[in-house]
Amino acid sequence: LWQQVPLEPPDNIFELTAAYKVDPFAKKVNLGVGAYRDDDNKPWVLPVVRKATARLLNDDTLDHEYLPILGLPEYTTAAAKLILGSESPAISEGRAVSVQTISGTGANHLGALFLSRFYGFNGPAKVYLSNPTWVNHHAIFRNVGIEPVDYAYYDPKTIGLDFTGFLDALRKAPDRSVFLLHACAHNPTGVDPTPKQWDAIGDVILEKKLFAFFDCAYQGFASGDMDLDAWAVRRFVDRGVPLLVCQSFAKNAGLYGERVGALHVVLSDKKTADWARSQLSVLQRSEIGNPPSHGARLVSLILNDPELFTEWKRDIETMAGRIIDMRKELYQLLTEVYKTPGKWDHILNQIGMFSFTGLNGEQCRAMVEWAHIYMAGNGRISMAGLNSHSVEYVAESLDKVVRG
Ligand code: PMP
Repeated sequence: LWQQVPLEPPDNIFELTAAYKVDPFAKKVNLGVGAYRDDDNKPWVLPVVRKATARLLNDDTLDHEYLPILGLPEYTTAAAKLILGSESPAISEGRAVSVQTISGTGANHLGALFLSRFYGFNGPAKVYLSNPTWVNHHAIFRNVGIEPVDYAYYDPKTIGLDFTGFLDALRKAPDRSVFLLHACAHNPTGVDPTPKQWDAIGDVILEKKLFAFFDCAYQGFASGDMDLDAWAVRRFVDRGVPLLVCQSFAKNAGLYGERVGALHVVLSDKKTADWARSQLSVLQRSEIGNPPSHGARLVSLILNDPELFTEWKRDIETMAGRIIDMRKELYQLLTEVYKTPGKWDHILNQIGMFSFTGLNGEQCRAMVEWAHIYMAGNGRISMAGLNSHSVEYVAESLDKVVRG
């Protein structure tokens, strides 16, 4: 009956984590992990989340009834304001549709599914993905029959943005093509366009009537400031770019396992938004029925209570600040202490949780096999995996591996 099922090789990052766990080497380091760790390499429950959880536990008015199909209204409304801005014309004009989703992955899926059913593709359904991108993007779009196509993004020569290649891809794509854009803290490269570059990207998008499929999994992680990290999305809404945004509270609230996310689709007018909402509701029902309540209640409390909201922003600054400090320390060790050959400015300049080191496949393998420093084969390291106890050993090992 099942002879047709082929064996799928295990996911690289999960395999890496498994190998790290059983490695007895005392100084081993895991730089593959895509989750925040504190300075003692422990998962961090945000203090504001602990406080909000205690409030929920003491609230005996809560029950376990179904949430509405589109989610907890006070959660989706507050989540929309967080990403689109509290003064967003799209919200006040009733042309933003917000749906609670199974974290960012679910938002990407529902957004892709919605496009696959209703978007006016110019020819066969395709989505343009940055090269490289979060690996799951390919599978998510393929699952709904939308073929992924790469667009130039990362330039290995500069370890930065291939801005010319990116603009070229936008110009050459057929009108109305869909481009997936990382709103901030690009995964896996840590390379974001500058505001001026975003504006030039927006010009071509408007000129060619392209659709911007924003994925925002790291709001607050790039700069430590929620508003700054939403700048590109808000700018595009202001300029009238047709778009949607996938939002996740996995990283910025440390709620990885609670699966709290949202999909926001911005339309041209209220009537179209009402129609879109009705169809999203049908899709959501057949996919997950009603979304889960616990994580949405937690985030709703934090977003809607000014005191908790201020505290949350402080917690995000703590996480973003620690990552920025690690970037500075690693950079300083490589350039001043070890005087490692090559340029390392990208360690400072790249944004968010991840950094592309520029190490080649062989060097990455040496880091894992020789130094017990677990990192992806494409040279990506998670800055959150570094801490004051491990950064020296990582810098020393990087230096040795680069010198060969
Ligand atoms: N988009 C990007 C770019 C990501 O890096 C991630 C997390 N790795 C996600 C979406 C989805 O994460 P989650 O489903 O945990 O919110």
